[in-house]
Amino acid sequence: MTTSSRAVVLEAFGEPLQMHTYDVPAPKDMAALVRVGFAGVCGTDVHLQAGRLSIPTPVVLGHEAVGRIDALGAGLTHDVLGAPLAEGDWVSWLNNIACGRCYYCLVEGRPTLCTGSRRIYGINQRADEWPHVSGGWSDYIYLQPGTVLVKLPEVASPQEAISLGCAGPTAVHGALDEVRIRPGDTVVVQGSGPVGMAAAMYAELAGARHVVVVGGPAARLETAARLGVGQAHVDIFETTDPAERARIVRAETRRGEGADVVVEATGVPAAVAEAIDLVRPDGQVSVVGQYTDHGPTPINPHLITRKNLTISGSWGFGARHYIGYVSSLPQLLDRFDLAALVTEYPLEQAESAVADVKAGSVLKAVLRIGGR
Ligand SMILES: [Zn+2]
Ligand SMILES: [Zn+2]
Repeated sequence: MTTSSRAVVLEAFGEPLQMHTYDVPAPKDMAALVRVGFAGVCGTDVHLQAGRLSIPTPVVLGHEAVGRIDALGAGLTHDVLGAPLAEGDWVSWLNNIACGRCYYCLVEGRPTLCTGSRRIYGINQRADEWPHVSGGWSDYIYLQPGTVLVKLPEVASPQEAISLGCAGPTAVHGALDEVRIRPGDTVVVQGSGPVGMAAAMYAELAGARHVVVVGGPAARLETAARLGVGQAHVDIFETTDPAERARIVRAETRRGEGADVVVEATGVPAAVAEAIDLVRPDGQVSVVGQYTDHGPTPINPHLITRKNLTISGSWGFGARHYIGYVSSLPQLLDRFDLAALVTEYPLEQAESAVADVKAGSVLKAVLRIGGR
């Protein structure tokens, strides 16, 4: 019997998304077929549809998803952490498979900088080639051998597990891996979208005493405050003057000197200059948010020298960050109501979900596909 799968396909940039139906193949050795439960919609999808990133088309979109194992190929018996896998298990997976052969994969151990043929589900796998269903906005997704596959922790519902989407592992990389947050630190997070929210949550898990979220619009900051994400919230639409913002933020820091760590998660180039201003001497700045190239911005490099700053970038996330995210879901859920971040849409409404993400009218859009 052949299984068929609906899938949302990006056929051409700037055009409406199409719903197609594909025959789903049985998994070959070490592969897996997953019945998708929920799939996230993120800012990257807006950029993909607009044609701002160079990808092949047609492509089944959806680079963040959770689902249940439908069938396991021969030899695939355990997840990456060693837990046995069975049909029906709720799982998630790293959305990319690095080449494993290039300099950055082999020598530097930095698969996020892979220069080989890195395969990314929902982004660069052609829908008109086998196995067709290589994105999460689909009833089924075919996970190829080499996919980092992990069972969801039992305490996390699938909705909770998808609530941060790729913002979760992105924040693990940028806020925990590239900078060091110490107990008692004051951390400023610029940006209150999913990456900023996740960075603020992880700053608290890492032991920060005081987390200041600088972002907007007001509704997002209210959600952050309601969920206990950050202890202070500064609205950039209310306080539009950077000097005035800096005064407010510094007043939240020890001795008024500035933050121990600033995590930039805005995508706005000028925010980096502001981060350098907001951090204390000998502090650290993590630039996470500049995913699309919005061009240069004036900064005062004298501050970097005089304050002895450490500034780091981080690009995407790898297996370590992804597993860090999934494994820390129980800790996140102890403190934060992750499900409250989510607005659900049926698969047929993927187009309006993308439009709402583009408009910033929802914090996290999620397609309910197989559900629970
Ligand atoms: Zn994403
Ligand atoms: Zn590589």
